[in-house]
Amino acid sequence: MRQQSPNAAARTRRTHRGSAERPGRMGRVLLPHPLTGEPFPSPVPPGTGWPGDPADADTPVAASAGDVSRLAAGASLPQVVARSSVCRACPRLVAWREDVAREKRKSFADQPYWGRPTPGWGDPRPRVLVFGLAPAANGGNRTGRVFTGDRSGDWLYAALHRAGLANQPTATHAGDGLELIGTRIIAAVRCAPPDNKPTPEERDACAPWLDREVEVVLPTVRAAVALGSFAWAAALRTLGRAGLTVPRPRPVFGHGAEVTLYREDGSAPVRLIGSYHPSQQNTFTGKLTAEMLDDVFTRAAEPG
Ligand code: SF4
Repeated sequence: MRQQSPNAAARTRRTHRGSAERPGRMGRVLLPHPLTGEPFPSPVPPGTGWPGDPADADTPVAASAGDVSRLAAGASLPQVVARSSVCRACPRLVAWREDVAREKRKSFADQPYWGRPTPGWGDPRPRVLVFGLAPAANGGNRTGRVFTGDRSGDWLYAALHRAGLANQPTATHAGDGLELIGTRIIAAVRCAPPDNKPTPEERDACAPWLDREVEVVLPTVRAAVALGSFAWAAALRTLGRAGLTVPRPRPVFGHGAEVTLYREDGSAPVRLIGSYHPSQQNTFTGKLTAEMLDDVFTRAAEPG
């Protein structure tokens, strides 16, 4: 096993409480949360009352890809969710998500921004697992929940509601009452990337969070939906690492593509279904329609 250097160990022991004390770097301007009215700086320090914040000031912070691997290994689901929500392993993405949080889009200038990674959320024992790419800079990175507060999320959660997989069709902010029914949503990369394009190194650094979360919830999963080709590839990789048999050559992504992934122990397999990503580019142009999305989630919701 690789020995951890004293410096690396010290970095890992550092909590967000420590990093939040840098004057002028953490957006000390306090703005009211749109739902609760509580004031927050941007980005939001863990454990300060943001709705659904899974972390607190003592949650260990990963400062490198090695830290991510170590902190994800063997973690419980609450630990994966909490630890990944304070991760600082990718310098470019940390800088980007926090710069966006401080500077804000003009239309959200009166709101605090989460400005942290968005962990998986939803049912801890899901039948349906939805894979996305990464949170949007002014969506999940603002609201604190993946696919929440942007047009992609409007499409996604409306479709999940129509399929009986969500209790309401709208998603505006963490703490808005939305609940997923037998469903969990996970981003392959948990920080908002510039141009929605994480580098391969960033994707790989984040993979242990994804792998561990998938590993923990996989026993109950019967169907998975990958939103876009990046998520399709990430889903195949992580489900393969979790012990499912992935055909060779690797199945090709397409809207409506479906592949059955069998478990080594012979128990119920997982059907992986591809869908075009509900991005504005796809929905505005009609490449993805509500009916096409409904078809995917209706199939995913079928008992299997
Ligand atoms: S992308 Fe993943 S590994 Fe990189 S900083 Fe964000 S949560 Fe950590």
